[in-house]
Amino acid sequence: MDHKAQPLPAQKTIALVAHDGKKNALIKWCQRHKQELSSHTLYGTGTTGLLIEKEAGLVVNKLLSGPMGGDQQLGAKIAEHDIHMLVFFWDPLSSQPHDPDVKALLRLAAVWNIPVACNEATADMLLASRFMQTPLPRDLPDYEKYLAERTLTL
Ligand code: PGA
Repeated sequence: MDHKAQPLPAQKTIALVAHDGKKNALIKWCQRHKQELSSHTLYGTGTTGLLIEKEAGLVVNKLLSGPMGGDQQLGAKIAEHDIHMLVFFWDPLSSQPHDPDVKALLRLAAVWNIPVACNEATADMLLASRFMQTPLPRDLPDYEKYLAERTLTL
């Protein structure tokens, strides 16, 4: 599939997700970066979002809990270009009942070329980027062109 330029906006919609073993780490990260995060729109899986609201005082649009479909809801939003960045502290030291959903979420983030942080170090680097305040130039699959060409050949 061809690609086309479609920058991410200066003000971003950021998805926040953490597995149980990583929830404290994500909450601490959100507390540390509260001011920066509050200038963007935040989404989260159910429990992660609730804890961030309670412990970090940020407003989070809460979806279903991850194992109940929240990861898939986030994946759909990435595919529809409604989520511009993913901070996903998945736990490398425990297995998850919804592992297929975890993989699917990371896969869609790769397909649609959004920035992803899976640990604090990367998340810190992303937030330190000047592209948190300015549009980020990036390419993504030109699905509209693909559809138009497919329609012509059918
Ligand atoms: P949760 O889901 O925030 O509802 O705990 C996170 C996940 O495991 O995907």
